[in-house]
Amino acid sequence: MPRKTTGKKKDETRTNIFLDLGPKTKNNKDNKTKSFTLFYIAAAFLVVIIIQSYLSTGDTKTIPYSEFRQELAKGKISEVTINSDTIQGTLSQDGKGTRFVTARVDDQDLVPELQKYNVKFTGQNENKFMRAIVSWILPFLIIILIWNLLMRRMGGAPSGVLNFGKSKGRIYGQDEMKVTFEDVAGAEEAKEELGEIIEFLRTPQKFLNLGGKIPKGILLVGAPGTGKTLLAKAVAGEAKVPFFSMSGSDFVEMFVGVGAARVRDLFAQAQEKAPCIIFIDELDALGKARGLNPLASHDEREQTLNQLLAEMDGFDTKKGVIIMAATNRPEILDPALLRPGRFDRHVLVDRPDIHGREAILKVHARGVKVAKEVDLSTIAARTPGFVGADLANLVNEAALLAARKGKDSVTAEEFEEAIDRILAGLEKKRKVMSKKEKEIVAYHESGHALMAELMETTDPVHKISIIPRGIAALGYTMQRPTEDRYLMTRKELLDRLSVLLGGRVAEEIVFGEISTGGHDDLSKATDIAKSMVKEFGMSDRLGHVVFEKERRPMFLEISPGNSSKDYSEATAREIDNEIKEIVEKSYVSVKTMLNDKRELLGKVAQTLLQKEVLEGEELRRLIKEDMESNVQP
Ligand code: ADP
Ligand code: ZN
Repeated sequence: MPRKTTGKKKDETRTNIFLDLGPKTKNNKDNKTKSFTLFYIAAAFLVVIIIQSYLSTGDTKTIPYSEFRQELAKGKISEVTINSDTIQGTLSQDGKGTRFVTARVDDQDLVPELQKYNVKFTGQNENKFMRAIVSWILPFLIIILIWNLLMRRMGGAPSGVLNFGKSKGRIYGQDEMKVTFEDVAGAEEAKEELGEIIEFLRTPQKFLNLGGKIPKGILLVGAPGTGKTLLAKAVAGEAKVPFFSMSGSDFVEMFVGVGAARVRDLFAQAQEKAPCIIFIDELDALGKARGLNPLASHDEREQTLNQLLAEMDGFDTKKGVIIMAATNRPEILDPALLRPGRFDRHVLVDRPDIHGREAILKVHARGVKVAKEVDLSTIAARTPGFVGADLANLVNEAALLAARKGKDSVTAEEFEEAIDRILAGLEKKRKVMSKKEKEIVAYHESGHALMAELMETTDPVHKISIIPRGIAALGYTMQRPTEDRYLMTRKELLDRLSVLLGGRVAEEIVFGEISTGGHDDLSKATDIAKSMVKEFGMSDRLGHVVFEKERRPMFLEISPGNSSKDYSEATAREIDNEIKEIVEKSYVSVKTMLNDKRELLGKVAQTLLQKEVLEGEELRRLIKEDMESNVQP
């Protein structure tokens, strides 16, 4: 009997990266915003109360009507104003005039009385409308003003309340977009991957006639300042098409529905100008997996996200609209965004290595007068971990320093000084990895990579990196499928599980203990085992039964509390045991395999420690060498 198929693509994202994120750092921004909000609300109330009390009483004294008549009889009242329901006036007491107010009673004798004591009196029909405006609408406006201010401070609504709904996407005409690939250095791989898109945008018809399939959404993944925006602009510049850009945080507004309207507007504008590029910066601000931040306004973000998904599904690539987005936190994105037909193509824009840094320095040094003896490769060697933006900043700082000193060109001295300044700034912001930590990460990633190469069915390793503070806090191993897959066999799932466990096992073998670095690996591994037992009926003990009917993307997070359970507690226990057993069994076999390859593991890790990045080819060469040396003796 043929094995049950899932009908899903094996790899929903084309590349497969094991990110090692390190222990989760708690973000305390929410707390700050919360106390900030409270402060503003309190301030707003205070203002309202002050205005109210000022308007209602001011420094006037409220007295009973009887007292008013007594004072009148004593001749102490000089003038009054009679309103429809109050009487106001001045009371002379101890030589001073005090303002008073009293409720007006239906008193026939009042007017003759007033005349009798020679009081100046006027009647007035109070303008209730004006009063209402001053005492209620004004404070309300003040509250709105403060709210607006607060929203802006939180990065929510930079535009104010009145022009919502209008897309703030900036359109760069094609002659404005002068950025080309010339201006982007040290990102050769990313440029190569984007080349296809440029071809398509230049001559969409030719491309389609040949039957080319074009991705709709491209996600640029990389740390801030690595040049993601620059790359997207360069694609537009190379293809000579308009460029629409918008930041994910622009979409998240204070009113439900505004973000969604903006998305609609943006896509409508873009479709008119096709072929073109839509660029969404900070996609994570908009596309956070649901339920991550209980404080944020859910409805609004969800609606906006849904609108984006709907627009992406709705339009036809043939028109030539390509959506590019950038994020530095791909792991928090809503899985729906990464499904086929949406952002299914991922391009990694990592921190540059030494050659990349030199190339970037060259690009930015074009605009300044650099002394002849300055060697940019030495500067590149001095700046590990710097991103493109840091390097651009470095050249600029050095030029400023030279100008301040009155020199006519920038010398090595200024560059050194600028490096020290920027480094001091960066060290404060970023944690530096210790030597021991780096070693652990190197062995961990080597474990993943070796397992990926040793298992029969897994995709070959494309690249391993332990560049400090790259896209993952610690390191990553990237595999690239050689073909598109639609089914997975039990063996393939198990092999994949082994690759996930490889990192942890390597740590255990070498250091005798496990760090927190790979906690994400373990949860992914558990998910695979869970799916095997509950969804695909791949367990020997429980047999070919499906326990989980709910649809969800394969191997992506299971949202707790979402699954309907239609089996007994006893079965549940058995399922848990079975899941545990699958993971345990894999763990043991991975441990045996890596123990056999202990020497090779050390070699790979040491090479990685030296070079920080290891290409797949190089890894395979090391493996081959190891096999040959084992055969000879
Ligand atoms: P991101 O969008 O990834 O945060 P940006 O594209 O905004 O980064 O980069 C900020 C600036 O840094 C760019 O305008 C450019 O001057 C410089 N820069 C970044 N990466 C590169 C690069 N690869 N080559 C040349 N300049 C770069
Ligand atoms: Zn890992």
